[in-house]
Amino acid sequence: MSSEAQKSLNFIEEIIESDLNSKPDGWKVHTRFPPEPNGYLHIGHAKSICLNFGIAEKYGGLTNLRFDDTNPTTEDTEYVDSIKKDIRWLGFDWEDREYYASDYFERLYGFAIKLIEKGLAYVDDSDSDAIAEMRGTPTRPGIESDYRNRSVEENLILFAAMRAGEFADGEKVLRAKIDMSSPNMHLRDPVIYRIKHAGHHRTGNEWCIYPMYDFAHGQSDSIEEITYSLCTLEFENHRPLYDWFIEKLEIFPSRQIEFARLNVSHMITSKRKLLKLVEEGYVSGWDDPRMPTIAGLRRRGYTPASLRNFADRVGIAKRDNLIEMSLLEFSVREDLNKRASRVMVVRNPVKLVIENYPDGQFEDLEADNNPEDPSSGKRMLPFGKEIYIDRKDWMDDPPRKYFRLGPDRTVRLKHAYIIHCHNHVKDEDGNVSEIYCTYYPNSKSGSDESGIKVKGTLHWVSVPHAGKGEIREYDLLFTDPEPTNHEDQDFLSFINPESLNVVNEAAFEPSLYEVTPETHYQFLRMGYFVTDPDSKPGHPVFNMVVGLRDTWGKKMRKK
Ligand code: ATP
Ligand code: MG
Repeated sequence: MSSEAQKSLNFIEEIIESDLNSKPDGWKVHTRFPPEPNGYLHIGHAKSICLNFGIAEKYGGLTNLRFDDTNPTTEDTEYVDSIKKDIRWLGFDWEDREYYASDYFERLYGFAIKLIEKGLAYVDDSDSDAIAEMRGTPTRPGIESDYRNRSVEENLILFAAMRAGEFADGEKVLRAKIDMSSPNMHLRDPVIYRIKHAGHHRTGNEWCIYPMYDFAHGQSDSIEEITYSLCTLEFENHRPLYDWFIEKLEIFPSRQIEFARLNVSHMITSKRKLLKLVEEGYVSGWDDPRMPTIAGLRRRGYTPASLRNFADRVGIAKRDNLIEMSLLEFSVREDLNKRASRVMVVRNPVKLVIENYPDGQFEDLEADNNPEDPSSGKRMLPFGKEIYIDRKDWMDDPPRKYFRLGPDRTVRLKHAYIIHCHNHVKDEDGNVSEIYCTYYPNSKSGSDESGIKVKGTLHWVSVPHAGKGEIREYDLLFTDPEPTNHEDQDFLSFINPESLNVVNEAAFEPSLYEVTPETHYQFLRMGYFVTDPDSKPGHPVFNMVVGLRDTWGKKMRKK
């Protein structure tokens, strides 16, 4: 049995499987992903997308994309476009089922009329403070509004007048008439319509009353005949209201099931706070590679497969928890290991001269692009008398167990020869500035007849062939694992001032002269990188995705 099949069912799958046995023929798994277009999608949404589309796929069902666009003032078509782009990029397809809650405004209005006619909704003239006051507290029952017992006729006239624009914002609301003493605060005559004289990104000025979330979301589920409305735990207390509307309106019985939000350490997933980072310039935009947005993760070099695998690994929980960011990094490392070409980049170059190599002579050495993937082929690397190696691979006075280069040490150059160091010079600050070696012509990689045993292998780039460019290295955007979880401290105070480090002196091998968008590489011995859209001909820009190994434990101890 494959590991996939062995994996036990999560609690949502258990519910579905038991339903499949008891529901009538024609019952199908129909889910929806319901973003509010008021920001870019983030890692938490990615989780929800994978869950909704994944479950439907597993049971041969369907998933709708529904924009929950009932709040005219915060929503924008820029967000609609970015959301669609991100979901497609993740690899999911809603086919022709792209819906907007705003398309249902007329039907939702009709539902409200139906409630009024049944004596289950009323227009209230109280202002929002008074309504909040009358709502009571979890331990103190609410108080019924003086307007609660208006006649059906009067309510119908007033609600029509609300729609016709005869009142100012806040002058009246429509409330469901349920139970002011219910222990569930959401059932204490919730507001279902409010007046807002504001243009909407789709309906323009057609409406000046807008349904509240609870009156739009569930009813939209019913209109679309969604069978499983999967949402995050904060809506658990809304479920009785969700079910009350279905019962009283006699509409399609969608079922709401709550699961725990995804929280990832050192990341924030509040759209409002992410917007603040963008608007106040803490990051370069929604797609800044340090952002936990899908656009940011993509620019950072995360792949769709790595995010889907991550969502799968995290699983579905019933209780809130915190996932270590190292798990996200593990997922991308695992994926890039399979697909990234190995190339040589010297981050901090120091010149090395091979004294017994003929002046002006060059040779092409064969290098495999990815040992994990034989189909990735090979490329040729120019090699000559002068090469760069990384300063970090040199020590003036190395300890015995140091396998890199130092005076009188022998190492292999990757894909090339074994060299022996016999001299070096330093600059006025005492740093090595040039290294002199000899090479063993019979030690060429792949046909080594030298019999010399070496422990260290260094990467390098030929000096006259070296390209220049920019490397952007990233650290955590926040220094605290849960920056939004401190009552006494603003999340902005945990911003890491050193989250971006730009390296301009690196030397690149020639295959990196011509960069193609969104190409992933493993820079040997450094980590995984991706080309950034800021790249220009002759000036490649690379984003560091993740290091080669999990250095998390170390990092956490340092902090
Ligand atoms: P808002 O505060 O703007 O409502 P939101 O995070 O709820 O923010 P929505 O656009 O309403 O954003 O979310 C769309 C869907 O994604 C919802 O079903 C929501 O439950 C789900 N979702 C949002 N954040 C997470 C998260 N961290 N983990 C899992 N699912 C999430
Ligand atoms: Mg929401």
